[in-house]
Amino acid sequence: MPSLTLISLDENLEKLNILKPLNEVLEIKDIKKIKPPKLTFNPDRKQYFSTSLLHFLELQRKDRQEIILGIINSPIYTPGLTSAIGESSPKRGVAVVSAYLLNNNEIIKEAFHEIGHIFLLNHCDFINCFMHCSEDKKPSQKQEFCQNCQALIKKNKAKLNFSKNFESLSLVYSSKSVSFGEHIFPVEKYSLIYQVLKENRLFKNTSFYEAPEAEFEDLLLAHDLEYLNDLKELKLTPRTLFSEIPINKEIMDFFISHAGGTILAGFLALKEGVQ
Ligand SMILES: [Zn+2]
Ligand SMILES: [Zn+2]
Repeated sequence: MPSLTLISLDENLEKLNILKPLNEVLEIKDIKKIKPPKLTFNPDRKQYFSTSLLHFLELQRKDRQEIILGIINSPIYTPGLTSAIGESSPKRGVAVVSAYLLNNNEIIKEAFHEIGHIFLLNHCDFINCFMHCSEDKKPSQKQEFCQNCQALIKKNKAKLNFSKNFESLSLVYSSKSVSFGEHIFPVEKYSLIYQVLKENRLFKNTSFYEAPEAEFEDLLLAHDLEYLNDLKELKLTPRTLFSEIPINKEIMDFFISHAGGTILAGFLALKEGVQ
């Protein structure tokens, strides 16, 4: 049977106490407080990015039937919306509710609503149902899951089975630095991602692998010999002339390591499995 873990993403745990009524649909197994990593906060918008909070919450899962609900007192957003009050990922069994714009009744309603989505419920026409989605709020009305939604929760309860958290991560990275000059893709993104993953310690065990250079025979599986020779010898020929980035040794080495790293990542995924 699924159980619920409540996680406060702020300093105080107070707001979690008002969520006790969730016990009616799910046994609350654990209540804790965990600060989300810096990268979930967008300093330009002064809001947390709710989808990345969901990723973070998913990492806290201990068993496959554990539903995780995070609550945060700060404003959150999802792409395309200026602000949001909650988001859930039914597939991954996680939800987050922002208490920032809500009173206590609304927090409870939103929490039930997102949990309902995790139980694979869609929005519902019954105005007093937690799964009703409407702009005109009627907070004075008593809200509950309607009979249809209750029946669906009962039916779907047994089906829920989420992936385990990522205990470990294998990361392939090349420390070779390269510059493309003025280019639409800022190549610094690779080292920035590496730094963020390293600094935020999102995973308990992270193994870093230096990307090896791809074997010439492997490159031949995807390219013509003539083309590879032109690149290797840094020749400007009709085959390489229209490259959108400069052709020099540094850039060639970078791409050969890029291909080698991709191959190694594929091997690691075959060995360790993919989530
Ligand atoms: Zn909804
Ligand atoms: Zn309903």
